[in-house]
Amino acid sequence: MDPSQLRNLPKMDALLALPALADSGLPHAVLLQAARAELEALRAGEGPLPDPDALSAAVLRRALRAMTPGLGRVVNATGVVLHTNLGRAPLANAALEAMAGAGGYCALEYDLDTGRRGDRGGRIEALLRDLTGAEGALVVGNNAAAVLLALTALAQGKGVALSRGELVEIGGSFRMPDIMAQSGAELVEVGTTNRTRQADYRAAVEAGKVQYLLKVHTSNYKLVGYTQETSLSELVGLGRAYGLSVLYDLGGGLLLPPRLLGLSEGTPSVAEAVRAGADLVCFSGDKLLGGPQAGILVGRKWAVDLLKAHPMVRALRPGKETLAALEATLQLYQDPAQARRDIPTLAMLSAPLEELEGRAKALAQALEPVCGAGCALAVEPGESEAGGGALPGVSLPTALVTLAPAALTPEKLEAALRAGPTPVVGLLRRGKVALDVRTLRPGDEEAVCRAVAAAL
Ligand SMILES: *Cc1c(COP(=O)(O)O)cnc(C)c1O
Repeated sequence: MDPSQLRNLPKMDALLALPALADSGLPHAVLLQAARAELEALRAGEGPLPDPDALSAAVLRRALRAMTPGLGRVVNATGVVLHTNLGRAPLANAALEAMAGAGGYCALEYDLDTGRRGDRGGRIEALLRDLTGAEGALVVGNNAAAVLLALTALAQGKGVALSRGELVEIGGSFRMPDIMAQSGAELVEVGTTNRTRQADYRAAVEAGKVQYLLKVHTSNYKLVGYTQETSLSELVGLGRAYGLSVLYDLGGGLLLPPRLLGLSEGTPSVAEAVRAGADLVCFSGDKLLGGPQAGILVGRKWAVDLLKAHPMVRALRPGKETLAALEATLQLYQDPAQARRDIPTLAMLSAPLEELEGRAKALAQALEPVCGAGCALAVEPGESEAGGGALPGVSLPTALVTLAPAALTPEKLEAALRAGPTPVVGLLRRGKVALDVRTLRPGDEEAVCRAVAAAL
């Protein structure tokens, strides 16, 4: 602001006394902080001095934002189903209802039959055993915690063989060598980046350095070209021959047979990993399972019992809302058709192209009156992604609604769609804004229309 105008800025008391603020009913401390921030921004900015109405409206907007939860609804029009930055799996309605129910008092560790202390998580563990065929199950806060707990409780001070092709980094901070070091297990790197044979593991085992065999699913990248991977079954075979246990960090947590979702037969599932003989399998609750953030461990009873007895388990345990949402999600899996329909992640991943095309056409039609001559609309083919470190390289053909605004750059439109009360996150694609209908939730179409109307 022009320094000569600075003295025309209203005094704080006068600003807060303006009716829009004084009568807003918002807490004084919030209004004060918003007013300070607005005045600060004006001093630092280039613009002219706003009139009192505009100034008080700007302060009010800041104050309201400070009073609104930041984790409210966002429309995901990116087509990335498990968008980690947008909260990964959206929950099924049954899971949302269960969370709300558990938010008050609930029988978290209470047996309603006997009136005594009950087993926390016992019902979920039983469901997980039924759904995966495993002998034991345990739930912790996320999969990173599950891997850390498994390595700490089982392999501290012991050698753990891992292929150099599976030394993964997931989302920046989860790096397998670091987790291994933190757990106190000794990483024994095996094979090369692109090829690891069974013989490589055998050589490490014969050298006497290895007590556990670890397999990590390369959930966010794919090795192509001159590659070789030792399968879980081969590792289990080797483990049996030498009396070693096999741990598998599966990442994704697919609980249905892949063909039910239209995925290729080779997509690893939890039940398949248990059947193949892994002693412990861990995976996320909020990836392909489609539930809340959680880390799930299933496997042999002896292994799960050792984890449960470890002091760290208490530090990693999830809250009651998470357990409630996870139980409700797992209950849907008891009927695979119902799971596919009612768990949004599964419904989105398996949505047929014709359905997506129909929804894109309907959205384009709804947008037509909003756009008028101000913006060219089209329905175009595109590709969605599973995202969230799941199904790398799997292409999901989809239908996009594209917008080419007349008076705005696409970058400005894309940013404006994110700025409203219900932010819409789309894509910039070939000089247009693209909205992928695959990841829209019920009711999102109206929010998109409102956001586009406000932006144009
Ligand atoms: C996603 C993933 C993790 C981390 O899981 P979070 O639930 O995000 O903690 C660990 N390992 C693999 C293989 C993964 O795909």
